[in-house]
Amino acid sequence: MAIRNVRLEGDPILRKKSKEVKEITPKIRVLIDDMLETMYEKEGVGLAAPQVGILKRIVVIDIGDGPLVMINPRLVREEGSQTGDEGCLSVPGKAGQVTRPNDVTVRYMDEDGEYYELDGTELLARAICHECEHLDGKLYVDIVEGGLHDVVPEEEE
Ligand code: ZN
Repeated sequence: MAIRNVRLEGDPILRKKSKEVKEITPKIRVLIDDMLETMYEKEGVGLAAPQVGILKRIVVIDIGDGPLVMINPRLVREEGSQTGDEGCLSVPGKAGQVTRPNDVTVRYMDEDGEYYELDGTELLARAICHECEHLDGKLYVDIVEGGLHDVVPEEEE
């Protein structure tokens, strides 16, 4: 496994549409492992493949309940709304208010080619929406309400 370089806002690759994954090759498995390692290293809640420069429809998420790997994720239900602070590993040190659905269902394939439908609320719903938008070249800064603010890192005890 390896830590991959995270592309930052302004990099044109973040604005491109990612392609569906047709086959889970050994190279895809390595990419997924590297994405998970990179997300944990950078202390992110999620990471999408275009953020490491690969235009494939793969996202990884961990809101603290263990890793989720979603290949070709597609939102099939969106309900309610929530407004809260959101950040992105491609926009380091910043956060801003974003309104998202509060309750979603996402359909996706895992790394073994099995299909799943997962319901997510609150932070998980936010993370799913945020990461899926990366696959269409969208960033949260496009829909932020009231601008970005600096995030002060928590002091380590
Ligand atoms: Zn992001």
